[in-house]
Amino acid sequence: MRRPGSAKRPRQCVERRLPHSHEASEDRSSLGGGGQPAGSRTIEHITTVVIGAGHAGLATSRCLTERSIDHVVLERGEVANSWRRERWDSLRLLTPNWQSRLPGYRYEGVDPDGFMTTAEVIEFVSRFAVVAEAPVRGQTTVTSVTQADAGYHVATDRGEIRCRCLVLASGACNLPNVPAHRQALPTSIEHFTPMDYRNPSQLPSGGVLVVGASATGVQLAHEIHQAGRPVTLSVGEHVRLPRMYRGRDVLWWMEASGVWNQRYDEIDDISRARGLPSPQLVGTPERATLDLNALTATGVRLVGRLAAVRDGRALFSGGLRNQFALADLKMDRLLDTFDEWARAHPREADVDPVERFEPTRVPASSPLHLDLGTGQIRSIIWATGYRPDYSWLDVPVLDRKGHLRHDGGVVDAPGLYAIGLPLLRRRKSTFIHGAEDDARDLVEHLAGYLANPKAESARSR
Ligand SMILES: Cc1cc2nc3c(=O)[nH]c(=O)nc-3n(C[C@H](O)[C@H](O)[C@H](O)COP(=O)(O)OP(=O)(O)OC[C@H]3O[C@@H](n4cnc5c(N)ncnc54)[C@H](O)[C@@H]3O)c2cc1C
Repeated sequence: MRRPGSAKRPRQCVERRLPHSHEASEDRSSLGGGGQPAGSRTIEHITTVVIGAGHAGLATSRCLTERSIDHVVLERGEVANSWRRERWDSLRLLTPNWQSRLPGYRYEGVDPDGFMTTAEVIEFVSRFAVVAEAPVRGQTTVTSVTQADAGYHVATDRGEIRCRCLVLASGACNLPNVPAHRQALPTSIEHFTPMDYRNPSQLPSGGVLVVGASATGVQLAHEIHQAGRPVTLSVGEHVRLPRMYRGRDVLWWMEASGVWNQRYDEIDDISRARGLPSPQLVGTPERATLDLNALTATGVRLVGRLAAVRDGRALFSGGLRNQFALADLKMDRLLDTFDEWARAHPREADVDPVERFEPTRVPASSPLHLDLGTGQIRSIIWATGYRPDYSWLDVPVLDRKGHLRHDGGVVDAPGLYAIGLPLLRRRKSTFIHGAEDDARDLVEHLAGYLANPKAESARSR
């Protein structure tokens, strides 16, 4: 699926400098076939281009400004565009307000332990853009990026730019991951992804199958079930977490114990860690836990991973018991880490006694298949994750799975960087509060590269 504006544009032919260009332009002008410019093509020269004005691109901009590196932030929509266009109505951050911080800027409201609504996130990120004086060019879609001598050529729907360095801050969640079985489903079933689902009233009446039990899947299953629809939730590998542990938010523990700060190069199987689903968490004023036990207690039916669709039937794997045991085990291990940290630091007095949670209850019976032709299921929500869209990136830096080849955000091409991807440099990298450290590290590398391109491209991290 292409996002709006991601279609490639034909190249035009003449190049000239803008009066305010920052760098020397090479004297290269090619005329259209008839000797006249086929269309006057202006190429602007800017040291660094940042693609994307989400929080990660803006954090990068702030760090570039601190080092007086001239740059522009190109954004196809408005600041915080993905929060404006791609989220469902009831979504709140699952990270508490006290954790919403960006370089030189943090939440300062009256409810540090609360969770921002989408509108509040838009306001928070938009204010940061103003405070950081980020040079954002909105309504500017990057349509292609190619390597050009000593840098990159960035084509947009509003002009062309040459830069020495480029930061990809275009997001990790541009496209929904929809499994191939979607094609085999009966046409009577309506499909939604978390990017086009807004609220339960959009769905046809009748049963709903939610595929995927990460943060998105459990939140949507809960909301739709609360709206009175029968919900079946298909559960594969998942990450279980309680909202509160020993009287503190579980994300407080992640931060205090140093888990969030764990570096990418300290993790054994980094590709697997980068592919892990988001934790089953929701941010609500009640600070409720939204794990599978909470869902089944309200009447959501659990089935195994969607394995195939054949002859109008959805087939689910068995092995829910194993999936649950694994998620419970991993949760307990993480809680052990927190307990060890509390013992090693004099924090035992600040927190409640050690606790453990009931194992995930295995349903007495769980169907291995559902006949999708009976009308029992009328719609499916694919809560099966997201992926970035690099369809406009004409630089050979993607592996055969389409993942960017990078070392902690230093991409495998000189002067090219990425920010905002899962576990880019730290466990917290993809979250709002993770952008600051990553942006500082990457801009430090970028500044070194500008000062001495040969040395810095050899030194990867
Ligand atoms: C459902 C959901 C819930 C989340 N909840 C939380 C949470 O509770 N707490 C938390 O900390 N994080 C959360 N995240 C993770 C993360 O904070 C968000 O995904 C955040 O929006 C990522 O910021 P970003 O700047 O990396 O990317 P984005 O916000 O996606 O910004 C990328 C920008 O690039 C622009 N862009 C893309 N392609 C182009 C192009 N070709 N040309 C020009 N512009 C382009 C987009 O329009 C967009 O504005 C959540 C993510 C999702 C999907």
